[in-house]
Amino acid sequence: MEDCLFCKIIAGKIPSKKVFENEYVLAFEDIEPVAPVHVLIIPKVHISDTNDINDENIIYVSEIYKAVKEIAKICNVAEDGYRLICNCGKNGGQTVHHLHFHMLGGRELGDKIV
Ligand code: AMP
Ligand code: ZN
Repeated sequence: MEDCLFCKIIAGKIPSKKVFENEYVLAFEDIEPVAPVHVLIIPKVHISDTNDINDENIIYVSEIYKAVKEIAKICNVAEDGYRLICNCGKNGGQTVHHLHFHMLGGRELGDKIV
């Protein structure tokens, strides 16, 4: 996807502060953090959002979940906990249309989702 911001980050065309990477998954710091730890976890193929997950690309999603605990350790939030958020579409507040999970932590988060 030529015009996708996160595909450009994967390709190294746009810089990012990398936290974790393997064959399937890239995690990097959010440019506008809303918590002391705010990391974006993305698949290394273009999947637009959760509506775009299918039998062929589901491996990337399961690899993201497999990587979460390691990313949490790297970010020093494994013990105290964190929140994973995935926005989908206009009403979900998604602004970058490449599937991503926000890992938020480093302080006690509010108890509301909305
Ligand atoms: P969402 O609103 O769920 O689509 O989240 C998109 C996130 O991407 C926001 O939290 C932005 O701050 C973040 N973001 C946008 N551009 C960049 C960038 N170049 N590097 C890191 N994070 C970014
Ligand atoms: Zn993309």
